[in-house]
Amino acid sequence: MQIDIITIFPDYFREAFDYGIVRRACAAGLVSIRAHDLRAWTNDKHHVVDDRPFGGGDGMVLKPDPIFAAVESLTGARRRETVAAGKRVVLLSPQGRPFTQATAAELAQSAQLVLICGRYEGVDERVAEALVTDEISIGDYVLSGGEPAALVVIDATVRLLPGALGSATSATNESFSDGKLDCPQYTRPPEFEGMRAPEVLLNGNHAEIARWRRDAGLDKTKRNRPDLLK
Ligand code: SAM
Repeated sequence: MQIDIITIFPDYFREAFDYGIVRRACAAGLVSIRAHDLRAWTNDKHHVVDDRPFGGGDGMVLKPDPIFAAVESLTGARRRETVAAGKRVVLLSPQGRPFTQATAAELAQSAQLVLICGRYEGVDERVAEALVTDEISIGDYVLSGGEPAALVVIDATVRLLPGALGSATSATNESFSDGKLDCPQYTRPPEFEGMRAPEVLLNGNHAEIARWRRDAGLDKTKRNRPDLLK
């Protein structure tokens, strides 16, 4: 998989992929990740990427022309309709559809993923209207820029690439994979400051452990995320 990030702060990503599963996936050749400076697709002397909003108001808006040029040079397409099958062009935006484990699994199927990071008041709407295949929000809050959202999308997506996780079953045992949260985990010591790990996890009976894990995952889902069970 090829991941291309379009940003006005490419240095933000300098060491971001040097850790853990994403680093291993890069080293194994499962994914290649590049951050591109949007200013490279400007034609003026000052490399201007933003302008004042039509209609007035505070702040600046990222201009459409450098973004269309960037996506065209990275994907060969200048409109959503002509983006080749297997390629996804994503605008990160609080106004997008919510990013979930299912979205990560969808994106993990692509051969190329282009992520557009907004800044300031956001991105000229013609990018969402005509250029991108997906407009995605990582949650109901407003970040200062799309860069942290790109990191979230990349991490959740890359760990789902075949071969990225140590064990082939890891991703299927995790929270959200079967519509509920994962079970709580414990490790040594068995007793810590008067709190005991559940005895069932220490007795070596695999059938009982599996039953306890399923029930404990359900209990935790009822407590923290009842919406998942509806
Ligand atoms: N004026 C916009 C609004 O209220 O909808 C917010 C713009 S925000 C300050 C600047 C950029 O941060 C956005 O263009 C987007 O790329 C990114 N961003 C902010 N919140 C986000 C979220 N929840 N998910 C994904 N990207 C987000």
